[in-house]
Amino acid sequence: MATTSIRLYTPLALLAGADVPLSAEQAHYLGNVMRLAVGATLRVFNGRDGEWEARLASLSRKAATLQPHTKTREQIRDPDCWLCFALLKRQKTDLVVEKATELGACLIQPLITARTQADHVNLDRLRAIATEAAEQCERLAVPQIRPPLPLAALLAAWPAGRALHLADERRTAPLLAPIAGPAALLIGPEGGFAGPELDAVAAHPFVTRVSLGPRILRAETAAIAGLALLLASEPS
Ligand code: SAH
Repeated sequence: MATTSIRLYTPLALLAGADVPLSAEQAHYLGNVMRLAVGATLRVFNGRDGEWEARLASLSRKAATLQPHTKTREQIRDPDCWLCFALLKRQKTDLVVEKATELGACLIQPLITARTQADHVNLDRLRAIATEAAEQCERLAVPQIRPPLPLAALLAAWPAGRALHLADERRTAPLLAPIAGPAALLIGPEGGFAGPELDAVAAHPFVTRVSLGPRILRAETAAIAGLALLLASEPS
């Protein structure tokens, strides 16, 4: 039967021959959208057990089962890079989540800052966007998307050993470059960080101010450009 280019994420364990039940949405996608039939082959990953070729073993309107049979890729660790960004309007937040996933961020932390225009998100929607982006870009894991946090709370609980790169468009700072070890990129809102806010962040020993170049980038552009710079040298 057809080997498709379809890749699906499942949270369930993957091992040869063990049935993997899919969600009703996934069954709908395979049957009604992609018009697959039982016997088709597709790929599945779960963020832990690598990627597997799997046979579509059963399919109905609301249910489907995969049977993994051949491991196609070993699980590899994602670069340990977080994106912490001030919440933007809905479409731009959606764009940032999709692009951060494609670029390899392993955790996405939406933030509430002094000038954020939104203070809540639909986490299910963002997680669905990240999942679909991970399926499309052939990642082996889906980044974790955390509920929005106030900036001060994020900093108060900042994990030891993780370098935080503060993207500051107003000060001369070294151009952001890849670093080894756990890292994070902090991007402000459309109106920028408020002065006292910026100084409070920069005062932490784990923070380094960085430039993303001589032009003032829109926040969503800064998140994308910053991650590209940070992850440019990630091991292939
Ligand atoms: N203060 C800007 C608007 C903020 S840009 C203005 O006057 O128009 C949105 C965010 O993108 C900033 O908070 C910063 O984190 C980041 N950013 C944009 N351009 C940048 C640059 N050239 N270097 C570093 N960070 C940048």
